[in-house]
Amino acid sequence: MKIIPHLEIHLAHACNLTCESCSHYSNQGHKGILSLAEAEHSMKLWNRRLVPHTFSLLGGEPSIHPDLAEFVLLARRIWPSAHLRLVTNGFFLHRHPALPAILQRDHNTSIYLSIHHDGPEYEEKLRPVMELLKSWVRHYRIRVNIYLSFKHWTRVYRGSGSAMEPFKDGLPRQSWERCPAKHCPQLFEGKIWKCAPLAYLKLQDAKYRLSDSWKPYLQYQPLESNCTDEQLAEFFHREEESFCGMCPANPERFKLPVPFNSSK
Ligand code: SF4
Ligand code: SF4
Repeated sequence: MKIIPHLEIHLAHACNLTCESCSHYSNQGHKGILSLAEAEHSMKLWNRRLVPHTFSLLGGEPSIHPDLAEFVLLARRIWPSAHLRLVTNGFFLHRHPALPAILQRDHNTSIYLSIHHDGPEYEEKLRPVMELLKSWVRHYRIRVNIYLSFKHWTRVYRGSGSAMEPFKDGLPRQSWERCPAKHCPQLFEGKIWKCAPLAYLKLQDAKYRLSDSWKPYLQYQPLESNCTDEQLAEFFHREEESFCGMCPANPERFKLPVPFNSSK
């Protein structure tokens, strides 16, 4: 059994926000949710070989999923000792009234609220979310961590949609060293992927027919569940690889525009 620091799973590819250069491409109109049965199948392919210290339920926005609370119970059955972290922008948490009691009964869980702007419009919309979370903390004693994502925001690729382009710095080691996603492998379609930008790139390509610049990165091969123990150990030991060349060697901080789409 290999212990790894972290593993993530998308419950939904869509998001209600449109954060520019979202590393999961969830700002770009993707759809689709994971069924509980698919998730259970995927997790069971790995739970006799891997134990994540932290297992993150995210997306996209995981609270778009109507079965969010059941996912917490499922993940706990599959990985009894993992810290279960629900990563959310919070805006749809009110749709899940059963969630706080489930989190209360399981002390090794937390909500990780990511905040994506500091302007007055965002603050105003976030106010009811903060009120709801305060009431959950008061009544259910759940753990909530708040992360000001916008303060550390960097560009992961240039442009978006069919005009999206990889970086071409040609320094994959440096890109990996400075990568905020380098310890965030994804469980997607029953396989383990190095990071979100590689895992969900094929969704971008299917939707937008990306330029030829992405061809080398679309060749990435995730880890299959029938891998040997040596392949498993090597996968999690691996640092930079050629695929990291698509990411910036000198990540640019930029001020995230207000991430609301008026149609949502
Ligand atoms: S809230 Fe998160 S998943 Fe949604 S667009 Fe922003 S960064 Fe991406
Ligand atoms: S490809 Fe490499 S540098 Fe880019 S996000 Fe993944 S781990 Fe980070």
